[in-house]
Amino acid sequence: MSYNDRVRGIYQQQLSDIREAGLFKQERFIHSPQAADIEVEFPSGAKLKKVINVCANNYLGLSSHPEVVRAAHEGLDARGYGMSSVRFICGTQDIHRELEQVVTEFLGTEDTILFPSCMDANAGVFEAILTKEDVMISDRLVHASIVDGMRLCSAEHDTYKHGDMRHLEQKLQQWKEKRLRVIINDGVYSMDGDAAKLDEVVKLAEAYDALVFVDDSHASGFIGKTGRGTHEKCGVIGKMDIITTTFGKALGGASGGCVSGRKEIVEMCRQRARPYLFSNAMAPVIISGVLKAFEILKGSTELRDKLEENARYWRSGLTEAGFVLKKGDTPIVPVMLFNAKLAQNFSRDLYAEGIYAIGFFFPVVAKGQARIRTQLSAGHDKHHLDQALEAFIKVGKKYNILGKTEEEIIAAYGL
Ligand SMILES: *Cc1c(COP(=O)(O)O)cnc(C)c1O
Repeated sequence: MSYNDRVRGIYQQQLSDIREAGLFKQERFIHSPQAADIEVEFPSGAKLKKVINVCANNYLGLSSHPEVVRAAHEGLDARGYGMSSVRFICGTQDIHRELEQVVTEFLGTEDTILFPSCMDANAGVFEAILTKEDVMISDRLVHASIVDGMRLCSAEHDTYKHGDMRHLEQKLQQWKEKRLRVIINDGVYSMDGDAAKLDEVVKLAEAYDALVFVDDSHASGFIGKTGRGTHEKCGVIGKMDIITTTFGKALGGASGGCVSGRKEIVEMCRQRARPYLFSNAMAPVIISGVLKAFEILKGSTELRDKLEENARYWRSGLTEAGFVLKKGDTPIVPVMLFNAKLAQNFSRDLYAEGIYAIGFFFPVVAKGQARIRTQLSAGHDKHHLDQALEAFIKVGKKYNILGKTEEEIIAAYGL
């Protein structure tokens, strides 16, 4: 069949439906390195505008950190550009194994295997270690990549209500005849910014003979006293059977991910995980940058401490101004607007004020739960946050939502 007018029409119709529903995502072109201050072309063709970025996953400000950049340059010179191979054929350098060992030590696990991304880690891990005799019990708000990984796995799948330990316990009882039970959580939930109660999850896992899986992509490097992650915050280092995480957020922000945990599980991934077996090895230049990121983190908690302080300052500033926030104590601070159109307009007006923050709405979050998700960084200084607060307050006044409750905002704007 040729790509004729009929076929073209099918896709044009679908795209126009997406636009009409107000759900079309337009990319903004950044002309500078990723940082607190960026230069953006938006809309396409517009003059460059300097804005403050409050929506990157650049939690520790390492994305353009001079030491990380230098280490990447040195790695590029020493080990070349690409591997042109998957790991098990001829794609493993000594630095791949070195990074696996560094991650293992940092997370307090038994072993680690790198993947091209955390999406790939999640896509590969379940199928590699579970069969029809097993069950995966996941929190209802886990990341999309976990959902896809579970789809690729033949094990039974069930869910429990977000953060609801009683519901989880019921599910564990219900599935007690299965060979293996795996409880599946995000460490920090990316849309709401709340953290999993991993201490309680571990208790249930011990009581019902289950394994614990956590995806700590929004936690590795900065959550917990020394930034090890949600398991450190909850006092359960060593009790996680499987941790997946990304190097594409706090840990330098380039790309790559891993499965870290029990050594037999990691070995099963090396033998069986399809994204590991059939996708190229991480580039040496990125490995070198990630190794430097870990070195910086192991040397000092300065960056995660600054991030924590920034998040506290930002959260209390917005609260005082009278915004409705999602409760939490992470650097993800969602400013709730409920209505999708309002969230889009709010984001547009913030941009006019020099603040880059994106509106999130269905299907990324539930209907009637639209928001501006703000994310703090150790790359932010007080003046960035003060300027951003000023802009939020100005736009908040324009839409008359300051000091208003959830019900009042919904009454004014609808869902
Ligand atoms: C970002 C994210 C991923 C994907 O990580 P990549 O390395 O970019 O593929 C997976 N899981 C969670 C929870 C994430 O937030």
